Amino acid sequence: MPYALPPTAHSWLPWWTSVGTRLLRRWWPHTWWRMPPRRAHSPTVYLTFDDGPTAVATDAILRILHRYQARATFFLIGHHVTAHPKRVRRIVEAGHAVGNHTFTHVDAWQTAHATVVNELERTAQVIEAHTGCEAPLLRPPYGHLTPQLCQWAGRQNGRVVMWDVMPADFQRGASATSVARFTTAYVRPGSIVVLHDNPMTEPVTLEALESILRWGRARGWRFAALPAPASR
Ligand SMILES: [Zn+2]
Repeated sequence: MPYALPPTAHSWLPWWTSVGTRLLRRWWPHTWWRMPPRRAHSPTVYLTFDDGPTAVATDAILRILHRYQARATFFLIGHHVTAHPKRVRRIVEAGHAVGNHTFTHVDAWQTAHATVVNELERTAQVIEAHTGCEAPLLRPPYGHLTPQLCQWAGRQNGRVVMWDVMPADFQRGASATSVARFTTAYVRPGSIVVLHDNPMTEPVTLEALESILRWGRARGWRFAALPAPASR
């Protein structure tokens, strides 16, 4: 599989990708790292799930989100969409947002820009064909941003969605406790959190998700789907 677990645990990864990159963020146009906190609302967190839809993980995540009346955003891989059209519709019908995570999980740092764009366009087409929804939000696999990608997204009236909280549920050595602890320690109003609906992360992600939602509910936090970009 193209999105295999890294060979060793790097405990600095969640911190570096969540906090260490803060100073770099302003230099990326058309890119969301954290949503503006809105004082009139309860504090809101935007959970995102990459790599689905998949048979086991997506269904279980949808059930947990439903139980907590939480909404989220799913960044879908195009070839998984074609394999699981009913699941994609179920995601949308439950009120979640869907975004684009390329057709075959290509790495934009290793791939020609034209190929990446082609993958994004094919994925947008299959998402629209199966759900009727446009998917103007995109997340590059591995979080590998390029300036061309950000500019391309802007020209499409889309946005690249990164994150400000990456608890690294995909890491070897990650546990539900470490993922939930990191998330609840670093989450702020408007935070965008990356999790995965990938069978390889499922045992960790599901339990962590329950803990995060329970933690949020006890404090009056709201879990919402990302909005469409406003500048249309
Ligand atoms: Zn991914």
